[in-house]
Amino acid sequence: MRALTKQYPRQGIWMEEVARPVPGPNDLLIRIRRSAICGTDIHIYNWDDWASQTIPPGMVVGHEYVGVVAEVGSEVRGFAVGDRVSGEGHITCGHCRNCRAGRRHLCRNTQGVGVNRPGSFAEYLVLPAFNAFKIPDNVSDDVAAIFDPFGNAVHTALSFDLVAEDVLITGAGPIGAMACAIARHAGARNVVITDVNDYRLELARTMGATRAVNVAREDLWNVAQTELGMTEGFDVGLEMSGSGAALNQMLHAMNHGGKVALLGIPAAGVSIDWNDVIFKGLTMKGIYGREMFETWYKMAALVQSGLDLTPIITHHFPISQFQEGFEAMRGGQSGKVILNWED
Ligand code: NAD
Ligand code: ZN
Repeated sequence: MRALTKQYPRQGIWMEEVARPVPGPNDLLIRIRRSAICGTDIHIYNWDDWASQTIPPGMVVGHEYVGVVAEVGSEVRGFAVGDRVSGEGHITCGHCRNCRAGRRHLCRNTQGVGVNRPGSFAEYLVLPAFNAFKIPDNVSDDVAAIFDPFGNAVHTALSFDLVAEDVLITGAGPIGAMACAIARHAGARNVVITDVNDYRLELARTMGATRAVNVAREDLWNVAQTELGMTEGFDVGLEMSGSGAALNQMLHAMNHGGKVALLGIPAAGVSIDWNDVIFKGLTMKGIYGREMFETWYKMAALVQSGLDLTPIITHHFPISQFQEGFEAMRGGQSGKVILNWED
């Protein structure tokens, strides 16, 4: 079968012919219909320090997809050939304390699809049936293909009560922009998003941000105070940039007693002003992945109750043009990029 692999230890990704994976008794074989490109895939493409230390040579990359069940392992119950599925990309051990307590997203032995084991930029993917999620009929292939990053946004945004609250989101990448839509849908009052990229700020506005602030030009605190009348600061902060500057700006802009959920991954050595955390009594929560599988049920329900993700999908390419897809994603002038395996 065809697959995009990290064939060589340098910048790039390559289409190769590899053996079709064989499902075990507890697995599904999934025929991939659409793939989406994640920021992680760009790290792997660029072959940065993290990627070169993590990705074994020849690895089939990718973990955002929708597909159709092509084969069902002999022990699997609840799935049938033809089911349309996406899947949780964190494969958990099942025997650690958190797994046994049902807190699978906190498993200390997590393996990543397309990182530590073969991924979904391929005609076929083998996935434990436990990790598969059936896609309701009224959710499109495009939207289902981005459930993985949508899940990061849902897990982060719904960590704290947003109803009638003033929400600050730092970082208008695809996940930050999706978080705007979720916060609005959930009933937040002001949904303010920051970035330094005008294209992405515009996209976040389309997704539901009530005010998009380019922090390279505008003063966030001034906008919040004079324009939005928020004299006391933000109630909930969602950090989705990984920028130390953005994190510090967020901590400064929080009201006393504010709640902060941290998804963005800062570079080593980023420091924060602990006075903001301690004297304001902030609650801070790190977010990894998606809750298994509460986040997945919420994702389906949010889309079914009218949350529109389609504006975040800005580019489509047939899989033969994967190179253009990766270039679009690397250029920063894109939302989500979808690669179609059926074209
Ligand atoms: P992305 O890189 O596409 O978006 C990050 C955005 O932050 C960019 O648009 C960038 O311009 C912006 N930014 C840079 N400096 C800024 C500043 N000073 N203020 C405000 N914005 C600034 O990333 P994404 O795919 O949307 O993911 C968001 C973050 O979440 C990334 O850091 C990613 O690594 C992380 N992530 C974490 C998990 C997890 O499980 N914890 C999962 C997925 C992604
Ligand atoms: Zn575990």
